[in-house]
Parts: sequence; C-alpha cells; structure tokens
Amino acid sequence: MAGEPQDDCLFCKVVSGTIPATIVRETGTTVAFRDINPQAPTHVLVIPKAHYRDAAALAAAAPELAADVLRETRAVAEEEKLESYRTVFNTGAGAGQTVWHAHAHVLGGRGLHWPPG
Ligand code: AMP
Ligand code: ZN
Repeated sequence: MAGEPQDDCLFCKVVSGTIPATIVRETGTTVAFRDINPQAPTHVLVIPKAHYRDAAALAAAAPELAADVLRETRAVAEEEKLESYRTVFNTGAGAGQTVWHAHAHVLGGRGLHWPPG
C-alpha cells in the first residue's frame, strides 16, 4: 500500500535504522541525512519517512507530506549556512533516479551551473 515501508527499500532501512546514515535532521515525518557519494560540499537527502516511489507519487498521494519535505530542505540549507543551493528531485530512471523512495537532494557550498547536465 502507498506509504507503507518496503522490505527491499534502502531508504526505508535508513528510516528504521537498519542501515546507518549520517542523520542531520529528523522530524515526525521526515529524515535528512548526508549523501554517501556527495556531489557538492553540502549534499543532504531529505526523505519522507513513509514510502513513495518518487516525488510524483508523493505529490499526488500526500501533498502535505511533500510540503514537509520541502520545508525540511529549507531547514537543512539554513543549518548548513547555504546562501545559494539547489533542490533536486530526480524522477524516473531517465532523469537519474536510482533509489525508488522519494527524496530531495539539497546541494550547495560550491558554484552550481545552470542548466544542469
Ligand atoms: P537518485 O540518483 O536521485 O535516486 O539519488 C540517490 C542518492 O542516494 C545518490 O546520490 C546516492 O549517492 C545516495 N545513496 C545511495 N545509498 C546511500 C546510503 N546508504 N546513504 C546515503 N546516501 C545514499
Ligand atoms: Zn522506502
């Protein structure tokens, strides 16, 4: 069922504590942790604790939870003292999504080119 934990999902395991992560923030509905393969000096992932396969499914099924994730991206940027930063939701394999649990990347601490590759 949408939102239920999935046994085979990496980020559900981060939520349950089954696999370790460097957690920077946690709320009742979200977890923010450092990306294991950082692409910028600050690279934090913000996820809903509930499982949705991607940002589109999250936005459609649980828009208030999507807002929680977005609010947390701002909180991470503030804690990390980022003046400029980029929030990215890769949605679908063609856009580079590799983990099928909705997540926002918060990237900052270096110049970020636009348009992205
Ligand atoms: P995406 O390609 O948008 O699906 O992003 C998935 C991100 O998860 C990548 O940037 C990975 O480096 C990151 N990642 C994968 N496994 C872990 C992990 N165990 N802890 C933290 N980040 C991870
Ligand atoms: Zn999951």
